[in-house]
Amino acid sequence: MKFDYLVVGAGLYGAVIAHEAKKAGKSVLVIDKRPNIAGNVYTEDMESIHVHKYGAHIFHTNNTEVWNYITQFATFNRFTNSPVANYHGELFSLPFNMYTFNKMWGVITPEEAAAKIAEQRKEITGEPQNLEEQAISLVGRDIYEKLIKGYTEKQWGRDCKDLPAFIIKRLPVRLTFDNNYFNALYQGIPVGGYTQMVANMLEGIEIRLNTDYLEHKAELDVLAEKVIYTGPIDAYFDFKLGTLEYRSVRFETELLDIPNFQGNAAVNYTDRETPWTRIIEHKWFEFGKDADGNDLPKTVISREYSSEWKPGDEPYYPVNDEKNGALYAQYKALAEKEEKVIFGGRLGEYKYYDMDAVIASALELCKREL
Ligand code: UDP
Repeated sequence: MKFDYLVVGAGLYGAVIAHEAKKAGKSVLVIDKRPNIAGNVYTEDMESIHVHKYGAHIFHTNNTEVWNYITQFATFNRFTNSPVANYHGELFSLPFNMYTFNKMWGVITPEEAAAKIAEQRKEITGEPQNLEEQAISLVGRDIYEKLIKGYTEKQWGRDCKDLPAFIIKRLPVRLTFDNNYFNALYQGIPVGGYTQMVANMLEGIEIRLNTDYLEHKAELDVLAEKVIYTGPIDAYFDFKLGTLEYRSVRFETELLDIPNFQGNAAVNYTDRETPWTRIIEHKWFEFGKDADGNDLPKTVISREYSSEWKPGDEPYYPVNDEKNGALYAQYKALAEKEEKVIFGGRLGEYKYYDMDAVIASALELCKREL
């Protein structure tokens, strides 16, 4: 065998494994079916702007080990995510904080805001059973109707009553004027772009792009002792137990000959009528400056549309409901019988992972495996 490890997928999970395996003295081959490395964190240069081709990626973590790990490969800037919500032209601060409550209800003090929420959450008694109940119990019906319902139903293509409560628990609710979206100790965007960061992780490692593992499985498998597979678990087994559901997103990206389109990296369109879920203005991830600190004269925006995944689309978000959870458990049992193959990452484990959790999970595997 030529290699100790064949890593299928050059995203964050694969890049961590490949880097660590090489460091441990193993020989590694990384393949990816795309023409580029970096998976969904891939950034591409347009007019000196790092465009997040597969959607906004803002690195954030509370895990010091992960932070120390990833900052070996890039310096991170001080970007803090503070999205704005646009509901039929009315703007609100996100996540839900005193600015949001003031705009929604005219309340001035935390006490008034808390009283308003307490009054509205009364309609939910007992443990919230779905996302709608969870949202109302967190912030009340007004905010649910204007800032959550439309956005969530566009993003997931499902009624809020049919979605699990945990999705909304990602969002903080604060009785302070703090509009930092994440409750994270560390946050930022890698200077130079994510693609450069992943290239640094993969330095000195053989990479074959435009190489579809599942199409050439037999000939690729003989190259390595072990395979780390980060693609969709159901595709690996040729969908033989049925297809897992994913949400996909599509981006319409435009270069505009103006310096400032929306004044913020992310604006969420939270009404049901606007067809896109959000607009990303990429230059604001890096404060509108190029690598030399000059103001950029143009701007690039991406409208994000959410859709149900169908074969041929890029899978983005696993749909972690009961039905899919049960099917995944069956695939996982099959995966455990594949002695030569380890399944990992968002698609390999069918899990709504943030970037830091993917890195933590890859590092765990390295500790067990290498
Ligand atoms: N969400 C919402 N309104 C918003 C932003 C988020 O209701 O303006 C809810 C929605 O249910 C979404 C979840 O919070 O699915 C998580 O959103 P986030 O933006 O964190 O998801 P990601 O960035 O991973 O797509």
